[in-house]
Amino acid sequence: MIKFCKRCLYSNTHPLGLTFDHEGICSGCRIHEEKDKLDWAERWEKLKAIIKPYRNKDGKNYDCIVPVTGGQDSYYIVYLAKVLLGLNPLLVTYNKYFNTPLGINNLANLKIRFNCDLLYQNVNPLSVKKITRTTLRKLGSIYWPILAGHTVFPVQTAVRFKIPLIIWGAHQGIEQVGMFSHLHEVEMTRRYRKDHDLMGYEADDLLSVFDTLKEEDIWQYRYPMDCELNSLGVRGIYLSNFVRWDPKKQHEEMIADFGYRTAKFERTFDTYDYVDCFNYMDLHDQLKLYKHGFSKVTDHATREIRHQRLSREKGLNLVKKYEQKNLKYSKLFMKWLGVNERSLQFILDQHRNPKFWTQTEFGQWKFNGWSAQNNFSNINSSQHSCITFEVNDKLESNKDVNYITIGKGWSY
Ligand SMILES: [Zn+2]
Repeated sequence: MIKFCKRCLYSNTHPLGLTFDHEGICSGCRIHEEKDKLDWAERWEKLKAIIKPYRNKDGKNYDCIVPVTGGQDSYYIVYLAKVLLGLNPLLVTYNKYFNTPLGINNLANLKIRFNCDLLYQNVNPLSVKKITRTTLRKLGSIYWPILAGHTVFPVQTAVRFKIPLIIWGAHQGIEQVGMFSHLHEVEMTRRYRKDHDLMGYEADDLLSVFDTLKEEDIWQYRYPMDCELNSLGVRGIYLSNFVRWDPKKQHEEMIADFGYRTAKFERTFDTYDYVDCFNYMDLHDQLKLYKHGFSKVTDHATREIRHQRLSREKGLNLVKKYEQKNLKYSKLFMKWLGVNERSLQFILDQHRNPKFWTQTEFGQWKFNGWSAQNNFSNINSSQHSCITFEVNDKLESNKDVNYITIGKGWSY
């Protein structure tokens, strides 16, 4: 039976796993309460002590690696590492091929404003398309190669450049479902990456399970061996264990101080997170709704409810307003992958979870997800005005074009 949290909008069908206490409050909400209880000044001192031995003494190497994209929390993570902690980070980014011009601009501006070196990995487009085709068909995911690349390239770079410290932003298992306490100070692991980021499939598993792929397609996504990691002492820490993590507030600081760009989306009210990608808040979000019965707007609303900027009822209304919105960029994706609309929809339909979707005798799909089951009130658009997100998406052509030095590889 589907059970809902009494405070936020998550249910026990969350793919990362949720537990409920005797008051019907979920583990994600309970762990969130730590944000208002912990002594964050003390936690910051702890972080400083952890990173101290990694500071490069002779100035001949970087102090740490910071994985970045042209969206989400990248600016804030670099701000903390470079400005507040005084580290010299090597920024690394995996080219997801679905880059928006705004995301490319954000990434270029990031390295300029923070004066950092940036290493960019472009896996050859043919292999990326082959893997995308396979994971879309078999796992209902167009994001497997992106998640695999984003989580493995920093680790490979750590080994290759002998930079043992990797600094990540938020741990999604903690932020969303309260998988661990902030005090556990969990670090990056091969296991979490495989189980949650990669849906249980490592690169080598793809090779053994799907005969469409060959060694030459997947080797770039292979996690380094334990002996390589251990001999160098590679570790990946999460800043959200040491800083009171509040993405809305953080993004607004980055917009004001460092020119982070934001954009409006069709399928959510948050304008800050995934501005770098055509597909994350589009086709990928649709697949999330098909498979898990909720989409990103539920994550966003839940986050705002927990930060007490939104009531549960208003959050639900926002979910209802955005969740079923049409896709805007699927044509771009079909052109990139070389599939037509009918075959794409056929594949997508295969991944509709029967727990949340039923088909009528006329072939129409009916959504029975949680937002369809919960009816707090009628949707009233004036109720949405309680929360505001800035939109800052105009590229000033002449000035900004000069910044675009890494444009190759976006998905036009
Ligand atoms: Zn909750």
